[in-house]
Amino acid sequence: MPLCLVANWKLNGSKEFNSQWALEFLSNFKGNNFSSLGIAPASLYIDHLKSVFADYDVMIGCQNIDFQETGARTGEISASMIKDLGCEFSIIGHSERRILFHETNQMICQKLIQADRNSLVPILCVGESIEENQNNTTFKVLKHQIIEALEGADELSSLVIAYEPVWAIGSGKTPNPDEINSVHEMIKDVVQSHFPKIGLKSVLYGGSVNFTNASSLFEQQNIDGALIGGASLDGKEFALIANVFNELRV
Ligand code: PEP
Repeated sequence: MPLCLVANWKLNGSKEFNSQWALEFLSNFKGNNFSSLGIAPASLYIDHLKSVFADYDVMIGCQNIDFQETGARTGEISASMIKDLGCEFSIIGHSERRILFHETNQMICQKLIQADRNSLVPILCVGESIEENQNNTTFKVLKHQIIEALEGADELSSLVIAYEPVWAIGSGKTPNPDEINSVHEMIKDVVQSHFPKIGLKSVLYGGSVNFTNASSLFEQQNIDGALIGGASLDGKEFALIANVFNELRV
């Protein structure tokens, strides 16, 4: 099973948090499909979290990688270093990185290539702003983001795309599930028609997913899972969301 539910812990966590989270998650999760679950802690805690989950094949990944392999790039972390720690995936091009750290589609393309070279599954994030949504340009904006990011990376052996409307992240608002479903269908069509050699594994939705709205999302045929920020900080809530996913989709 590909990655279906991915926790993005952003700039949160500690060793104590990792251990507590695992206890809460493991005492509430009813499934055994651990390898469809991913956690992206701050990179500094990857090693510790790996040891906390040593007995489970939960995927551990990172929130970002550099677009270069080595060099005079103080503070950066490369895909090969992340692979060296035993990670399986990297989130790439999250809207917070695009907005706060000025990442362009061209940089994101280089990061996708770095991930692929190092056998990390890239989770490419795309999403429209509130203005773009209100102007009915969502499809156009997403298509542009996808094509620019994948143009130089058209032979990626695996790829996950996360559709994350910028206005839905951390806001408690979501598009309605039917709308998300048609966006996901469009994303799959764009990748298949423009980049037939790319192995697109799944299209996740991200933006204010929680236990309450999980079933309305996972009922949709083209929503293959979720990338979860705020609600993933609670091990119990992440487990309850995973239980809903398993009831509806596994
Ligand atoms: C995210 O930042 O990737 C995200 C989906 O956040 P939240 O679930 O908090 O909206």
